[in-house]
Amino acid sequence: MVVEPKIACHSALLEAPPSNGNGHHLAAPVVEVEKLRKEYGAGVVALDDVNLTVSDGEWIAIMGPSGSGKTTLLNILGGLDTPSSGRVVVAGADLSQRSKKDLTRFRAETVGFVFQQFHLIPYLTALENLMMAQYFHSITDEREAMQLLTRVGMAHRAKHLPSQLSAGEQQRVAIARALINQPKLLLADEPTGNLDAGNEESVMALLRELHAAGQSIIMVTHDPVIGRMADRRIELEHGRIARSTVFSFEEERNFDEILEQIWTLQESNQEAKPELLQFVTGGNLKLLPVMKEIGLLRSERPVIMMTDQGSRRAANVIRRHRLAERLFADTFAMHDDTELESNACTFEHILSPEVTERICTFLNHPAECPHGSPIPKGECCVGKR
Ligand code: ADP
Ligand code: MG
Repeated sequence: MVVEPKIACHSALLEAPPSNGNGHHLAAPVVEVEKLRKEYGAGVVALDDVNLTVSDGEWIAIMGPSGSGKTTLLNILGGLDTPSSGRVVVAGADLSQRSKKDLTRFRAETVGFVFQQFHLIPYLTALENLMMAQYFHSITDEREAMQLLTRVGMAHRAKHLPSQLSAGEQQRVAIARALINQPKLLLADEPTGNLDAGNEESVMALLRELHAAGQSIIMVTHDPVIGRMADRRIELEHGRIARSTVFSFEEERNFDEILEQIWTLQESNQEAKPELLQFVTGGNLKLLPVMKEIGLLRSERPVIMMTDQGSRRAANVIRRHRLAERLFADTFAMHDDTELESNACTFEHILSPEVTERICTFLNHPAECPHGSPIPKGECCVGKR
């Protein structure tokens, strides 16, 4: 069955999922969660009435503030923790009805785990770490383990210990280990939480590749830029699903672009009328009602007005864009306007909050972009300018 999230955002722009003509989706769900509740002792409710269906091959990002229940949900889906009540079915296995021994079997056969802290065995080489996971599943197969290390770009470090690898390399080995027994579902808890920007990019590229090859992935992240790479984002708040959005990276990009234009019009004291918007990357006026539905806009005509959430997001995009321009102009002496603009346009969508703050600090919290427009302040700018 398909469980509707509390606030579903179905846009006319989205293609219907594949159907077999009977109105049933072709891809069987890999996860079905109904009325899931998890309490820790008296009074701590980590999850409350969570309903979720994940199709085979889908990539889901679980987002939300610290303590909202993300890790608890992931651990329950992976059989590391048990629900207090509700139904949890993963790849056909009903986890609410399983003994401890059964759960151990389930973990070895059905899921692969990737953790923020990698959790590789320190005295085993990269290759041996993979073979250990094979051993717990069935039998070891060195050739297969090497093939997988090759796939994650780590074959040349097969004989190295985790301590001899960079953080990003360790995480790629950990991902290979998670995949060694061909799990139906890959579970990743803040997989880039301990990585710098370059390593983050290589790990995300690997996840994108796995997803393209059909791997079902559920990933916890607090980073909106990373979250946008998934097919769907589930936002938890106090253990409940507060929001579920199903927009593609391109659609999110179009929202950003419209918000930016509204911001710049308002900045020059113009009314943001729909007819003033320009759509260069494939957006169109049909996006406005969708943006209203998901809480980014308060009104869409005759004048477009943003909600607080919309303004915050616009300020963040503008901030990333103008900081990127500043960086290219000051650090790389790039002064060609077209080049500046196109580079900034790319960067505004891919800079994570952490990297943005680092750039801002590195540039000493600049107040204006190279064209003299104000750069909205971030948390790092407090008391700095
Ligand atoms: P997140 O991953 O979103 O930061 P968690 O799932 O770790 O959140 O935690 C959700 C809530 O459950 C928090 O209030 C946390 O303190 C509580 N919690 C998590 N694990 C335990 C535990 N083993 N015992 C008691 N409380 C826990
Ligand atoms: Mg957590």
